Amino acid sequence: MWTNAGDEFQGTMFYSYYGGEKIAEVLNDLEFDIMTLGNHEWDGGETKLGAFLSNLTFPIVSSNVKSENPALKPHIKSYQVWEDKNLAIIGATSADTPSISSVGNQTTFEDPIKTIQEAVYEIRNNTKVKYIVALTHIGYDVDQKLAAETEGIDLIIGAHSHTLLGDMKGAEGK
Ligand SMILES: [Zn+2]
Repeated sequence: MWTNAGDEFQGTMFYSYYGGEKIAEVLNDLEFDIMTLGNHEWDGGETKLGAFLSNLTFPIVSSNVKSENPALKPHIKSYQVWEDKNLAIIGATSADTPSISSVGNQTTFEDPIKTIQEAVYEIRNNTKVKYIVALTHIGYDVDQKLAAETEGIDLIIGAHSHTLLGDMKGAEGK
């Protein structure tokens, strides 16, 4: 699976110059299977984010983002299930996003630990898939809390804190 854990907006001259439209074209060409949203995706406001999402050809998941904005609502779901791969992937975005980016008044961010656990139960109740992955943009500290306080998640693919993990020197965890 080719997953994207968010923050495609900001950080590169490519984005600064071309904006979301060309980013969407590149992500589609790279053939991602799925993406969750980063806080930076809101930096240009929700009209620009909605235009970006409407151009993507793969699913966008974030279980804790609840939006009534018609530009966003049809494009964001909690999780994606692939029965043929025996797999479900649940998304989540940093709950701090409204205080660090430009979130509209029709969009709220719930506690990602709560919404991911609810999604796990919903997937278990409605499908037979064995593996459940959390694709998160909530940072390493919250990812650790997520692992400790929930059940049923096989793997967390995290972003946001840019934490080095592994057995190399300077890594913050295994
Ligand atoms: Zn981020």
